Amino acid sequence: MNKRALLSSLICRPGIHPVMAGISNRRYVRILAYHRVLDIDEQTYPFDCELISASVRDFERQMEHVCSRYRVVTFADLEEYEQNNERIPENTLIITFDDGYADNYEQAFPILERYGLKAVFFLSTDYIGTDTPFWFERLAYLVKKGMVDTSRLDLGPCAGIAGKWRDHRGVLPQEGLYHAVIRLPNRDRLRLLRQIEEGMPPLPKDEAALVRPLTWDQVREMADHGMEIGSHTRSHLILGNGSPKEVAQELEVSRRTIEEQISRPVRAVSYPIASYDFAINPLVIKLVQLAGYRFGVGYTSGPVRRLTRERYQLKRLKIERYVSFDRFRAKLLFPGLFA
Ligand SMILES: [Zn+2]
Repeated sequence: MNKRALLSSLICRPGIHPVMAGISNRRYVRILAYHRVLDIDEQTYPFDCELISASVRDFERQMEHVCSRYRVVTFADLEEYEQNNERIPENTLIITFDDGYADNYEQAFPILERYGLKAVFFLSTDYIGTDTPFWFERLAYLVKKGMVDTSRLDLGPCAGIAGKWRDHRGVLPQEGLYHAVIRLPNRDRLRLLRQIEEGMPPLPKDEAALVRPLTWDQVREMADHGMEIGSHTRSHLILGNGSPKEVAQELEVSRRTIEEQISRPVRAVSYPIASYDFAINPLVIKLVQLAGYRFGVGYTSGPVRRLTRERYQLKRLKIERYVSFDRFRAKLLFPGLFA
């Protein structure tokens, strides 16, 4: 057991946890970052396992805990506190989901409803209501199935980054190709994805169902039940790699599309692939403000200490499928330490 795992289990011992809760910082806003809630067999699952944040059982256990100890709000609530000059209540927490997978509705939404919790769903709008897998899932699938001759790909300016991942035959694993692709200027990324896709068959229906995006009917139903909907751009563009025109257009169109579909205002955007520093820059933040967003959510780990100052680069607490329940509780109590 490593040091942090040991510390989490100590903190979470019966009798100790309430004492620790007393000394944790109740003024921080904690934002949980999920992608998908799904039960999979990792050995045979043909897409990106890293996007599965929790099994259905683990998610239910996590929500039961959140419900008993935290005050769960949305960005609309935060805006209201600000407008009324009210102090943000202690132990405030926001639950967020990125991308817009159908399992958010099928698996997570019923559990959220059962515990009376609200969550925020960030959607890449071009995919919603389609059977098209997100581009990174399609890429993961083709590479995992060995359908791409990665030794022949022209990775342009990212050839060097990819080089260290290649084996002696020049073959790139999924992770290496992904690391190169996400660093390419947007135009080069799209060109490379077209090159990879050339002559590829569509996904078999049963496999495509594993990564199906939400439908607009599902989105509307969740919004009608108090869930908040935010933007995750149109095409899951890595904003820092796009031209100012592309970035402005993705931010504006995704926002307008959601607002037309759910007849409610969109307040927040989640930046795609934001754990990397190239994904966000001062120009992107300026364009986010110009497009009328009130909050911008990143993917670096940590609590929100000062909402006003950090509002366009809000940190989150990443929940991964291998986070134990003790670690989950410790992360929420001491987000600076366990982020
Ligand atoms: Zn995403």
